[in-house]
Amino acid sequence: MDMNNSRKMITIPYIIGDGIGPDIWKAAQIVLNTAIEKAYHGKSQVQWLEVLAGEKAFQKVGKYLPDETLETLRKYKVGIKGPLTTPVGGGFQSLNVILRKELDLYACQRPVHWFKGLPSPLINPQGLDVVLLRENTEDVYSGIEFGANSSKNLLLLKILKNKFPSKFQCLRFTKEVGIDLKPISKEGSQRLVRAAVKWAIENKRNKVTLIHKGNIMKYTEGAFLQWGYQLIEEEFPDYAYTQQQWQQTKNAYGENNANREKDMALQSGKILINDMIADVAFEQAISQPTSFDVIAATNLNGDYLSDAFAALAGGVGISPGGNINYETGMALFEANHGSAVSLANQNKANPSSLILSGSMMFRFLSLTEAANLIIRGIKATIRRGEVTFDLYSQITGNTLLGTQEFAEAVSASID
Ligand code: NAD
Repeated sequence: MDMNNSRKMITIPYIIGDGIGPDIWKAAQIVLNTAIEKAYHGKSQVQWLEVLAGEKAFQKVGKYLPDETLETLRKYKVGIKGPLTTPVGGGFQSLNVILRKELDLYACQRPVHWFKGLPSPLINPQGLDVVLLRENTEDVYSGIEFGANSSKNLLLLKILKNKFPSKFQCLRFTKEVGIDLKPISKEGSQRLVRAAVKWAIENKRNKVTLIHKGNIMKYTEGAFLQWGYQLIEEEFPDYAYTQQQWQQTKNAYGENNANREKDMALQSGKILINDMIADVAFEQAISQPTSFDVIAATNLNGDYLSDAFAALAGGVGISPGGNINYETGMALFEANHGSAVSLANQNKANPSSLILSGSMMFRFLSLTEAANLIIRGIKATIRRGEVTFDLYSQITGNTLLGTQEFAEAVSASID
């Protein structure tokens, strides 16, 4: 951050992304620059610094993720990125996963908020306002993979057979079997749960739901839950109802009534902490999504769930995200969706996800006024029915805009 005669210049590295990345980045930049200008009238300015990753990096320097990219992101701490393509079933490891691991961005924060005018499969989407914090560095995304018939895979099978015969017998088929490991640690679980509860307290939310599949994967998903509750009891005794306290309250007041839960938590000035098995969470995401508030989830469950929630409020084209380490202050904000290659270079893709990720980033950088202006601009544009094709196809009576024209409309709505 450069300070000069009370002017503030903030350098923010960006990765343009693959597929629709260049289309949506060009559009997002218009809105982000307008918001900064309108909020600070030249007193705070942003200097965008391109860093390479993905196909563009490969074409320019022969590497998908050059070391300089990581160094620059580490230097400036906060960045923004478009989507990066990952080959399925082979090729290189996901660059997104590598970035999150290399920079230790352990919490993926994904807010899902319904704006008036957005399509939704819900009859009553008003009040949908969920913030999902997903653990971002562990679980089956750790990259500890042993492809079927590879020498390491065969060695692992041999060790299992000789050293842990009862576990070997758990394998339904012992030949041509791909194996991924699913590590979930106490430290990894607790820092994610800590971040979720702190965020809930700071943002005056009512409830944090720990989502897990601990009934089946007891030592990973089940441990996530136990360690989560343990941390809450130790670190937030004055702020949170724990499971045990909650059970007592529930016994006194009656069973699962989402609104009453919220009321009681509010009245007591505490955050309600409850937990839910992942499959039930998916069912409730559809049947009573407004009963969720803040969610803390393991990596794979959180990945699936965040897209499921996004579908309730306009889809992945409009749901933003940030990968954050709350201790180091490192953060990389990104569009939630992928590179949607079939839409690339057609001025069709919805840039809202990246624009709203920019708003999250500005909020993180305490550029709060600019962050708020972006939300206002997006809301006003959608309320007028000016939308890109993904939303246009779902609601009649709207006006169809291209990627660029949508960004210009949002920009013009910022005042
Ligand atoms: P995708 O998100 O690219 O596409 C899924 C669907 O959503 C498609 O129908 C697509 O047309 C639509 N869509 C996505 N973004 C849109 C937008 N902005 N506007 C309008 N419609 C949009 O998912 P995919 O096809 O499974 O993945 C493509 C590639 O992206 C894969 O290589 C995948 O690994 C990668 N990916 C990257 C990220 C990331 O960079 N964080 C996230 C998810 C997927």
